[in-house]
Amino acid sequence: MSAASPDGTPFEFVQDQRRLARGPVAVAAFNPQPYLPLMPPVELFTDVALGVAIPSRNARGRIARLAGVVDSILASHQYPPVIEKLLAEALTLTALLGSLLKESQGQLTLQAQTEGGAIDLLVCDYLGGELRGYVRHDAEKLGELSDAPTLQELFGKGYLAITFDQPVSDERYQGIVPLEGKSLGEAAQSYFSQSEQIPSLVRLAAEKRGEHWFAGGLLLQHLPEGEEGRERLHTRLDHPDWPHIAILGGSVKAEELTDPALPLDDLIWRLFHEEDEVRTLAAIPLSRGCRCDPDYVRSVIARFPADEREEMVGEDGMIRVDCAFCSSSFAIEPKELSS
Ligand SMILES: [Zn+2]
Repeated sequence: MSAASPDGTPFEFVQDQRRLARGPVAVAAFNPQPYLPLMPPVELFTDVALGVAIPSRNARGRIARLAGVVDSILASHQYPPVIEKLLAEALTLTALLGSLLKESQGQLTLQAQTEGGAIDLLVCDYLGGELRGYVRHDAEKLGELSDAPTLQELFGKGYLAITFDQPVSDERYQGIVPLEGKSLGEAAQSYFSQSEQIPSLVRLAAEKRGEHWFAGGLLLQHLPEGEEGRERLHTRLDHPDWPHIAILGGSVKAEELTDPALPLDDLIWRLFHEEDEVRTLAAIPLSRGCRCDPDYVRSVIARFPADEREEMVGEDGMIRVDCAFCSSSFAIEPKELSS
């Protein structure tokens, strides 16, 4: 079910996939044949994750770029630039992994557990394209570090717990990534390659251009057993297709991942145009989303015993609860809770 476009635009439409072909890439807003689903005109520049498949090499993955999402998440906090960059990269990794979830209600959480570093907590999560995240750090310790600290300086003896939670199929899976190496991308890549034994490439980048942050990431995995394959691949690590894809994907530059003027389709084409076939899947829009709301906060506080709730009451007679993700503050009347 593919159709060449009548006016020479570069896509062939195959269900919700686009097969990239030679030529400048733009999102076509026409429907070449009436029985094919209409592609929505999605901007493939920022705040979007895109599936990538290179079928002849058994490789697939995600590419993502974040801009306004990162700005709006960071705007709730006053972090120093080192922390802003780290959180921008962590949110990008969250988007890459979260957009792999099959269930629309699936949630992905990254949480760093640390010991003796400048950061004592980092949490990001993804639900249905919505991202949020925050960092708790020791400003004094951070001030003693260089401008480009290692993961060990930032986190001490740290681990990153990655939790995939799919409520419909009741699947919950957690992996633990040691926070070692130069960057979050490097740590994630060695985790997938070693623990999951899936040959993987992870690249993350974040850069402030003027007043705005731009972050981007590429995740590619070698899955010879096809789309559903989570099979352990230790006997196939020497598969010749993978080193080839890893070299091409690994050549991506940080400034390409973060460049807001470079569509993600164009970047994928730039990296893999020599392959027999390279596809991008329907774009997944990313946005900032916090799930704190007054009713939920009230229901959590109501579960505490009465004497503990008593201790929470401030001088103004209200219980104040702050959301660490978005810095929203909720004031709850204690009387509302007693039933
Ligand atoms: Zn919130």
